[in-house]
Amino acid sequence: MLSLMKLPRVVTINQVPKVFHEHSIISGYRYHHSSATDCILSLFQLTNETINIWTHFLPTWYFLWKLVSVVLIQAAWQHPFTWPLVVLIISSCIYPLASSCAHTFNSMSARVRHMCFYLDYGAISLYSLGTAISYSAYVFPDKWVNRFFHQCFVPVALLNAIGCTGLACYSRLGLPFRHHNQDVLKRFPKCQSPRFSKVLRLVAFAYPYLFDHIPLFYRLFLCEGEGCTDNDANVLHYTHIALAFLTGFLFATHLPERLAPGSFDFIGNSHQLFHVFGILGTRFQMMAVEQDMVLRRPWLLDHSRPITFANSLGVTLLCLMVNLSILLLFSLPLLSAKVGQQKKHKRQIKAH
Ligand SMILES: [Zn+2]
Repeated sequence: MLSLMKLPRVVTINQVPKVFHEHSIISGYRYHHSSATDCILSLFQLTNETINIWTHFLPTWYFLWKLVSVVLIQAAWQHPFTWPLVVLIISSCIYPLASSCAHTFNSMSARVRHMCFYLDYGAISLYSLGTAISYSAYVFPDKWVNRFFHQCFVPVALLNAIGCTGLACYSRLGLPFRHHNQDVLKRFPKCQSPRFSKVLRLVAFAYPYLFDHIPLFYRLFLCEGEGCTDNDANVLHYTHIALAFLTGFLFATHLPERLAPGSFDFIGNSHQLFHVFGILGTRFQMMAVEQDMVLRRPWLLDHSRPITFANSLGVTLLCLMVNLSILLLFSLPLLSAKVGQQKKHKRQIKAH
């Protein structure tokens, strides 16, 4: 069937505008005005995005299956104690799904590309909140449970997630309406340098991750004596942390493609490895959190503050709504630019 269809053309770096360029990737680009159908068809041909798409699309289904099994087998809706695990799994389904959509449709135009990655950033920051909610419920060491830091942990994580969605979106084009509007679609002056833009984005992703992991880092690396929660879940936490640092290293360094530009365009570049190790890290994180939940359940039910709708699913919904509002705010100038351009195009056709 596919062989009967005409697969979209694949071009080199010199044939697409600068905004589409990827560090040290020379070939395998899709045409920068692809239709939505072309973008979907490109899933079945080898471009420099194909593996990026599949490495997040397939795990989305695996995490969805995990979500269904937790909700149905553990009857999660009947037990508020499992809601933070459900929040972590939902956010772990959303971020790879948003990412695979972003990688699929980002070659439709420069505007769509920016909007696609706004969606990606919003989903990553929601995942950081999902992490914080599950850590607050099951991972905090015994010593820190109910202390002041534990009580403000989720509210601060919520503010971090919202702030970092804004910062990551800002890193692409600056502030909406101020730095980019319907007439101007360029990077704002400080962001002319892609490196500055990348550093802002790295901070936007790394800061919430590091904040969320303060209780776990303390538990694993600093805590001594009683109340350190030294249990069987620790080995899974260590594995997740190792994978997370490897993921961050790949994102920051662009290795291996920077050593041999053009050699890893289709397979084996840092972004693909970043996806694979990121997903493996999420899987180990989920296993560790679930194991803590099971092992510590009696103790936590007796000693920790109760889990409610407000401090689990409610705060996640709030973050989702605020993040969507931020994405809309950053996307509005791009959407109005598209409408403006279409009107201009129609006027030019009438004039002829
Ligand atoms: Zn990606």
